Amino acid sequence: MSPQPQSSDHAGVMLHPELLAHDDRDAIYRDGHRLDHAEGASKPLHAHPEPQPRGAKVHGNRPIDQAEAAARFIAAPEHEKMHDERLWDLRQKRDREMHAIPEWEELRSLASAIKEHTLTHLDEYLDAFAANARSNGVNVHWARDAAEHNRIVHGILQDHGAKSLIKSKSMLTEECGFRNYMASVGIDVIETDLGERIQQLDNEDPSHVVVPAVHKLRTDVAQVFARTIGTDPNNSDVHYLAEAEREANRPLILAADAGMTGCNFAVAETGGIVVCTNEGNADLSANVPRLHIASIGIEKTIPRLEHLAIFVRLLSRSALGSPITQYTSHFRGPRDGGEMHFVLVDNGRSHRLGMAEFWTSLKCIRCGACMNTCPVYRRSGGLSYGATYSGPIGLIIDPTFNARKYSNLPFASTLNGSCTNVCPVKINIHEQIYAWRRELVKRHEVPFAKKLAMKAAGELLSRPSAYRAAIAAADVALAHLPRFVIYNGLNAWGKHREVPHPPKQTFHSWYQANRGGKR
Ligand code: SF4
Repeated sequence: MSPQPQSSDHAGVMLHPELLAHDDRDAIYRDGHRLDHAEGASKPLHAHPEPQPRGAKVHGNRPIDQAEAAARFIAAPEHEKMHDERLWDLRQKRDREMHAIPEWEELRSLASAIKEHTLTHLDEYLDAFAANARSNGVNVHWARDAAEHNRIVHGILQDHGAKSLIKSKSMLTEECGFRNYMASVGIDVIETDLGERIQQLDNEDPSHVVVPAVHKLRTDVAQVFARTIGTDPNNSDVHYLAEAEREANRPLILAADAGMTGCNFAVAETGGIVVCTNEGNADLSANVPRLHIASIGIEKTIPRLEHLAIFVRLLSRSALGSPITQYTSHFRGPRDGGEMHFVLVDNGRSHRLGMAEFWTSLKCIRCGACMNTCPVYRRSGGLSYGATYSGPIGLIIDPTFNARKYSNLPFASTLNGSCTNVCPVKINIHEQIYAWRRELVKRHEVPFAKKLAMKAAGELLSRPSAYRAAIAAADVALAHLPRFVIYNGLNAWGKHREVPHPPKQTFHSWYQANRGGKR
């Protein structure tokens, strides 16, 4: 029986209309529902695809202009709409999964408490993890920073005469500038995660911690693959593209000299690590070559194996709205004839641990839920942040690396608190973003014009009579001034939205008239 198009009240209405194409006979259905995103339709989106907007311009230590990059992303309506809808769809799926688990809030509280306990006893748990890993036959290394991490890995590869390395997605290695470093010492790195490989071939950073190429349309991927692996630039069929990439990448994977993974959880009790993927790509990186190196951020430690269940139940539901990650792989020691190395990396984490207002950001399990729900992130794309970490959690983490360079980022938020509400480990994200704003003002890292404007607003808001006079004047101005005076280049707020019509009566004047100013 041929499947019926889903009804308009199904969550699929959030998808881009062209992906819904109800008459698409190639669409794939399961249990009466059409599979969504790129899986759901394989028709070319347009004969003349919209070019992909690129990310923020990065100039050394100069503050990243996130607003400028966001404006370019918004100016590409196909990209903006697709990005917004894809991520909101993930948020909705996360909500459905959450509502299906009565003890969800209990899980969040437990996860938060376990992380806070571990972080406040990190030295003990790291020692236990390292000792147990060594007794499992793993070589354990400690890296103070990104440079030391890269040197250690290079040293291991040199010892084995390795010239090529397959690697599964790891935000820590992005943080360390690992691929560029490896290129500089003549070692080929091949990403095994499809999205990450797309980004590598396009010479771009990942734009999301879970779905690294989520900002790209299928037509963008068709262009990248046409340039790099010789596919047909006019064919954006996802099955064709995925198959072509598999054909091109698998021989490189099979021939690689070494493999590398990140780590989602490092279990102190066992000395083993757990890596969660949906493509099994970490298993390729860990199992195909004989040499496996895992890069582990020190905050990934959890005390016991039994704690893992709590995090595994939260992670995939929060990230993709799926009950479990397809592959939850445990690595505890080298296989017969193989060698395993763990590189435990600090790179600013212990410094952050000492920051009273920001240390709990180390609880992050990189699920991306805060990004999926953030209205600024959804409409500006992850690359507009010009940093390793984007979205709400990035606004907290990035300035800990470089307060000047990322001084604009904490202002790329509405502070609506949605990020805090969805965070599976209960990080008070929006409060920490607000705390960064205060901190940046203290450190004189806020532009002079913004400081001046805030000072003027502070003066106005602290004087009720001046405030009321200003409101009355603004109402008159809005009603009578020509449009170009209000909507021009100087009014960034009015670029994408209309100033609301003022009500006929303010609350204050209504209160005076009806209650005489008395309670
Ligand atoms: S801050 Fe919370 S919601 Fe955001 S990525 Fe980390 S764990 Fe997920």
